[in-house]
Parts: sequence; C-alpha cells; structure tokens
Amino acid sequence: MTAPIDLTELYYNEAHMRGGIVPWLLNRANVPVEGIIIHHTAGWYGPRLYANSSRDAEVRQLDAMAADHFERFGIGPGYHYAVFPSGRSYAIGKYGTHRAHTKGRRPTRDPLPLGSDARFGLLNPRYNNIALGLVVFGDYEREQSPVTAGGNVQAGIRSVLKDVARYVSGNLWLGVHGMMRTVTKDGTPMAQTTLCPGKHLRKELEVWGLWRPTTNGHVPLSLTTPLGEEHDDAEWLRKVMNDPRLNLLALTNAAFNRGTAAGFAKGYNLALDNAHRLSSRAAEDIRRLEVPKAR
Ligand SMILES: [Zn+2]
Repeated sequence: MTAPIDLTELYYNEAHMRGGIVPWLLNRANVPVEGIIIHHTAGWYGPRLYANSSRDAEVRQLDAMAADHFERFGIGPGYHYAVFPSGRSYAIGKYGTHRAHTKGRRPTRDPLPLGSDARFGLLNPRYNNIALGLVVFGDYEREQSPVTAGGNVQAGIRSVLKDVARYVSGNLWLGVHGMMRTVTKDGTPMAQTTLCPGKHLRKELEVWGLWRPTTNGHVPLSLTTPLGEEHDDAEWLRKVMNDPRLNLLALTNAAFNRGTAAGFAKGYNLALDNAHRLSSRAAEDIRRLEVPKAR
C-alpha cells in the first residue's frame, strides 16, 4: 500500500479557490475533523480508466475535475482525496481547508455532539467543514464494481485512511454521501438526494469491513486501532452516567439515538479532554439541548 501522491500544492492557489485561499481555510484546532465521507465521480472526466491506467491519465482527469468543480462550487477539486481503479490515491485538498462535497450539516441529534459542538457552540456543523471528502473515480451505481475495476480500490481507500491517521489521532466516523443524515442551518432534516457513492461501492465497503448501514449514516472508524473496531456500549454508558458534566446532554441524545450509543464514545472522550474549555456559550448550548424538540 503506497502513500497518496501529494498534489495538494498543485491545487492550493487562487486559481483553484474562488475569492482566494483565505475563505477556504479552517483552523483545525477549532474545527477538528470528525469523519470521512466517501463519494464516487458517477462517471469519468475523460476516457474510462482501469487498473493498468497511467498516473498521467489519472492526473489529467483530476485536472478536469478541478476545473469542473471550480466552475460549479468555487473550489477545485471539491474533495481532499481521490482514489482510482489502479489503487493509486492522491491527496488533492489540504487538510486545513474545507471543500465542497457534502451538502448540509451533521444533525445535533446524532451521537457525536459532545466535542466540537460543546466547545465552539456549533450545534449543526457543516459536513464540508468537519468531514474530509474522499472520491473514488468511477460509476459504482450503474455498471461498475470496484472488484471488476481491478480490486485495487480498497487498497487506495486504506492508504488514504492511513494518511489521515498522520494528522488525526483517535476515532473518526466513516460515512457514505447519500446516506448521511443531514439538516439545514436551523436543524430541519434535509435529504441528500444522491445515490453517491453507488450501491456497488457501498456493498464493497461493507465487505471490506469499513462501513455498514446505520440509522444515522455514521460508522465509528478507529484510525489508531484496527479499522472498524467499536467501542463497548455498556462501558461507555457507565462512564456517561457517572459524569455529572455530561449526562444531561448525553441522556438527551441517547433518547434520540437508541441503539447507536457506540458512536457517543468519540464525542464523550473529546468532551472529557476539553471539559475545562466548556464556556458559558457551550453551557447554553447544552441547556438548549436538554429539551428535545417535538418530532
Ligand atoms: Zn458524493
């Protein structure tokens, strides 16, 4: 498994960022990465590519995608990473920038609100800010499966995860675009209305043990322990119940997320680590969360 080819400098300039670089920069200390969302291109930016396609041919398609995304979204390319049927992977967006890959925001009711939300008053943070976007070239809804594409896609994805682990310690979740639960700014549920990244790739991600369907679209993904390892729900619950700083919020969210308690562990640990930073603003957010909205 080779490391992603780093093209981040190539796309880190005014020509690829509408309005200049500054509007696309994030302070990752304030907006930590929480997860990775997988996409497909649903087609090609040139001729179809295969397991034996050349690096030059892949870079040409990355350039074409960058131009297309700049036109449509203002940033080219809209993802942080790309993977090809050859198994080659590319870092195309800097870690410290946000991209344009997934509409909407992570619902507050999802089992991860204790960390960044509590600290920074972001109840429904944008997926484009808190998640890295990974795109697999190909159309995995219609005719093509990653296996018939050469079987290297898994290696490419894993090399990306390994690369991410250089920057992010601890646990992340892995999501697939079309199945991410999402909300508008005011918390109103909103559909993704996309099949991305295609049923064939979703199936393979399950087979590879990287993803499975869940009610909220988030699957805990540990970058420091074997991929896909989960937390012990009972142990987590015991910790939360015994922590007076957190259990009101946790209980509220538990009520919304029956059966998905494992995902809380990440947020819980983050909040514990940062409990000293709980400002009055954050406390206010937590108080607001105590009363669940009627559904
Ligand atoms: Zn997508």
